Amino acid sequence: MVSRQTPAKRPLVALSGRGAKPRAGEVWLVGAGPGDPELLTIKALKALQRADVVVHDGLVSEAILELAPASARRLSVAKRKSHPHSYAQDEINRLLVAFAHEGLTVVRLKGGDPFIFGRGGEELEACRAAGVACHVVPGVTAALAAGAAAGAPLTHRGAAQAVTFVTGHAAAGGEPDLDWASLAKANQTVVIYMGVSTAAPIAARLMAAGREGATPALIVEDASLPSERRVVTTLAGLAAAAEAVSGPALLIVGEAMALAVETAHPAAAQPPSPARGEGSARTAR
Ligand code: SAH
Repeated sequence: MVSRQTPAKRPLVALSGRGAKPRAGEVWLVGAGPGDPELLTIKALKALQRADVVVHDGLVSEAILELAPASARRLSVAKRKSHPHSYAQDEINRLLVAFAHEGLTVVRLKGGDPFIFGRGGEELEACRAAGVACHVVPGVTAALAAGAAAGAPLTHRGAAQAVTFVTGHAAAGGEPDLDWASLAKANQTVVIYMGVSTAAPIAARLMAAGREGATPALIVEDASLPSERRVVTTLAGLAAAAEAVSGPALLIVGEAMALAVETAHPAAAQPPSPARGEGSARTAR
């Protein structure tokens, strides 16, 4: 008589058989880039195309969301200022885990890069705590798109030996607690995310700590989108210039911003299409 399988052996059979356990869901924390769908990575596109459910925040454009299968469920968890409790971070964390427990492939789509002021770390921790597999796909963070569009490098030989990304908001609201003395040193670029409403105190702190008021500065609103707007100013003029901004914007301060241009720059243009009928070899002139 054939003895019945021991429970310990069952999973080995079940793995390849019809009675397999429902597939384990997983979470993909995907960077959607700064807005232009062409700035998505190929990996981000592939993850989106495999999604059963897309959980996205407010900075992700419709053009990018349309790249997910029509059958994928879409859920916006935008945190709007007027409704601060529309989705609390711990609710989002619980949602991601719950969808994954249903066996779904969950794409958590975030503007820019998930790990740059995107709270992706908290979502990753929630998945880890729940035993849910979580993969991270990096994205082009807004600072990179802003510098590229303005033709202003964030590091530049002789003018910017370092670049620092800071938040303009403290977790508890109000001014951030930053190392102003270090940020005030010359020849480095400071990129301020979420700093439009705190531009005045931030500029004042930097100048009080010794950064020259004449240091070049740049504001880029809606970087990489058709609505992109750039303002070239100085640290002393930053607060006044920020008053005219309404969309998501970055403040960038540093000597290398002297290269920034306000008008359309070739770096923001379409890449050239492959030439038809030409061989791959080109003759250098
Ligand atoms: N994870 C995102 C940042 C999220 S914090 C990233 O890596 O880019 C939100 C802030 O990012 C906004 O307040 C704004 O300061 C900045 N931001 C996001 N998208 C932007 C864009 N297209 N243009 C300018 N700033 C942007």
